[in-house]
Amino acid sequence: MSDYKYSIEAKNVNKIFYKNSKEICALKDFNIQIQKGTIHGLLGPNGAGKSTFINILGSLVKKNSGKVCICGIDIDTNSKLSKFKIGIVPQELNIDPFFTPAELLELQAGLYGIPKKKRRTEEILDNLKLSDQRNAYARTLSGGMRRRLLIAKALVHSPEMLILDEPTAGVDIDIRTSVWNYIKEINSKGTTICLTTHYLEEAENLCDRISIINFGRKIIEDSKINLLNIISIKTVCFIIEGDFIIPNDLEEFQPKKDGKKLTITYDKKTTNLKNIIDILAKRKINFQEINTYESDLEDVFLKLIKKN
Ligand code: ADP
Ligand code: MG
Repeated sequence: MSDYKYSIEAKNVNKIFYKNSKEICALKDFNIQIQKGTIHGLLGPNGAGKSTFINILGSLVKKNSGKVCICGIDIDTNSKLSKFKIGIVPQELNIDPFFTPAELLELQAGLYGIPKKKRRTEEILDNLKLSDQRNAYARTLSGGMRRRLLIAKALVHSPEMLILDEPTAGVDIDIRTSVWNYIKEINSKGTTICLTTHYLEEAENLCDRISIINFGRKIIEDSKINLLNIISIKTVCFIIEGDFIIPNDLEEFQPKKDGKKLTITYDKKTTNLKNIIDILAKRKINFQEINTYESDLEDVFLKLIKKN
């Protein structure tokens, strides 16, 4: 395996589409570095430019300017080799209905020029839990099976990197969880992953690092943990024993009383939960229950999109 630090490295990528003689700037000076071995999320609303970038990686869309390297290989100077390094799982479930999973994988392996002896059809079908369906027509497969078959197809040439465009769009909850598990498993065995999503929950669940894009521009990129730390407001909820009045020294925490329930918000950068508990103890207010809530990626996302 060749030596490189970034599985994807893109610099100043621009893409303009023309629609009814109007310019659509799908990517504007887009930069990204995806570190080998990680799961990187491209997160953004519909129309942000995510698929455009994926399609540039797969040479399905031609960029107007900029430089893109896949596993250290420039896609402009060595497009054939760069295509061997990645497997792309498209968003649409476009599977030929009259092929069986085994036939489809064999066909795909043939397209990549993989000799019969080196093919991994059975192993891949097994890994993606499709062995029982190996000889079934694709049209008889469920949505979840089709999604897995597309992932299988992208893995035929043992790519160093797997790219998934909206892997769970329009997929129901239990299939979503199983697709997430496959992605994590593939990554744990050493394959770098890049996925696009407009589901915050998906990015939060899967990704080590996240780039948020909107209108073709990258708004921010950071580790998931740092992104979640951008919003430092926490909420704590107490169930109080007996009747109580809100102490004055809690005023700055926007206290809310609702029956036995006392809700307080605080900035974890300046206040510890212990400070609040100490105030309650000093006022002889005892609680039966305590629950704290962290902000999630949705809060970060809304804050950033608003700011930009
Ligand atoms: P995302 O995948 O984030 O939803 P896309 O990359 O598909 O966004 O689209 C980005 C923008 O480019 C959108 O405004 C979309 O309408 C436009 N676009 C994408 N592909 C084409 C195309 N082939 N022709 C014209 N406009 C396009
Ligand atoms: Mg898309």
